[in-house]
Amino acid sequence: MELDWLKHWNLETPNKIAIKDGDSGKEIPYADLFRLSNQAARFLINTYQIKKGDRVAVLSTNELEYVFLFFALQRLGAILVPINFRLTQREVDHIISDSQPQLVLFQEAFGGIVENLEFKVQKLLLQKPDNLVPESDSFADVIHLQPNDEVPFTATENDPVMILYTSGTTGAPKGALLSLKMIYWNSVNTQLRLNLQSTDCTVIFLPFFHTGGWNVLTTPFIHAGGKLVFLKKFDAEQVLKLSEKEKATILFGVPTTMDMMARTPVFKNYDLQKIRYAIVGGEPMPVELIKTWADKGIPVRQGYGLTEFGPNVFSLNEEDALRKIGSIGFPNHYVEAKVVNDEGQELAADEIGELILRGPVAMQGYWNNPKATEETLRDGWLHTGDLVRKDSEGYFYVVGRKKDMFISGGENVYPAEVEQILRSHPGVLEAAVIGVKDEKWGEVGKAFVVTRDEELTAEALRTYCLKNLAKFKTPHHYAFLPNLPKGDSGKILKRLLLNEGFPSK
Ligand code: AMP
Repeated sequence: MELDWLKHWNLETPNKIAIKDGDSGKEIPYADLFRLSNQAARFLINTYQIKKGDRVAVLSTNELEYVFLFFALQRLGAILVPINFRLTQREVDHIISDSQPQLVLFQEAFGGIVENLEFKVQKLLLQKPDNLVPESDSFADVIHLQPNDEVPFTATENDPVMILYTSGTTGAPKGALLSLKMIYWNSVNTQLRLNLQSTDCTVIFLPFFHTGGWNVLTTPFIHAGGKLVFLKKFDAEQVLKLSEKEKATILFGVPTTMDMMARTPVFKNYDLQKIRYAIVGGEPMPVELIKTWADKGIPVRQGYGLTEFGPNVFSLNEEDALRKIGSIGFPNHYVEAKVVNDEGQELAADEIGELILRGPVAMQGYWNNPKATEETLRDGWLHTGDLVRKDSEGYFYVVGRKKDMFISGGENVYPAEVEQILRSHPGVLEAAVIGVKDEKWGEVGKAFVVTRDEELTAEALRTYCLKNLAKFKTPHHYAFLPNLPKGDSGKILKRLLLNEGFPSK
């Protein structure tokens, strides 16, 4: 098992471009990526004494230094903690206090949050902003000054190298602990299943704080010796333009971004002939949209994955893109998948049950949270909380969720977390949140609230949520009710709230 794959490509194709900043146009060949990752590792040892098992958190948009840092930490066997930059102070505080990093690297734009962190931690700017005096240091500036010698690669396959925070059905976000083994086998899987070659190139706009940015794209592409062009944020025209310019061979996205690209007036103008196919995951892609892309000569291969497992778990083969529309295909290599009922018994073809998964690409558990780990990883199987069925030919379909979650613009929203915030408002007695259809975002939150205070308005609740929760989690709709529908055990019956026309005050 070659764990130091950057070193491999440094020797094989040192001058080939590995990564390009699509906004600035700066290109980094494999030799420089290897050198800068070593220099970054040297800096972290010399200045912050970072060692195996230590955590380094990052609050930043997609940047070259983020990638250097990722590979530097692996040399040291240390752990990267990427943080979603859309989160509020309260949410970031939770992640920092939970992961207790030795260092936080951040961009100036998020300096306010870092300054006010509850947990006392060392901080360093990732890059120097233009308006700072020249002598001020930043990670980007100082790594170039380090000795250019190779730092031994010390992470072994069972060492955790990343903690990715995802919200959960129990409220507070949990950190999925990912080992180097998981990242390695996921890269091998992806390479085999997508037939990734060193000639492949993609434009990535998925954020590096999400498993989509790191483990769906960055590590498999670098593992294959390919080329990545990254953007700081999604811009439909920019992705199309760069895909044409860079002769991208694979397109990745979620249904919302594929839809936005298809809707731009310039969609027809771009020549995307080099693209072999699009891989789309995160949520089911509408059939009409699959056809729109097929008409442009681009088959859409649905993929399925999750932070805690894979994350490349399933994908539909190219030749099945239209024949098996709506399916996520077969499990990838090194993945065992079963559909089970509540008693854990495997179900027959076409019966709906929970998807459970086993393989070397499972997370190690949730950081500091044995209870949540035990609930999710049982007898070696990861329980996804997703409801699926397998047809008689062995193709899988996602049909719903056992876990209480909806997806807004590609970001997961767990109602439990939003309800906890709503209930913390002094004017709220009870609250329940569901996902409702939305033209732009796929789904958005709708809150059903029982108030203590007759005067409480939707606007006041929205402002309160925005202060405590990222915008994508904040409900768009509010309904005030005299009480919430409950079952005998006192549990709120959300399926009744889902019915259109449920009485509102
Ligand atoms: P995350 O951990 O943020 O990657 O979210 C993982 C969750 O997204 C899964 O557990 C599913 O609920 C959902 N998901 C991922 N891919 C698909 C898909 N192709 N169709 C439906 N849901 C999906």
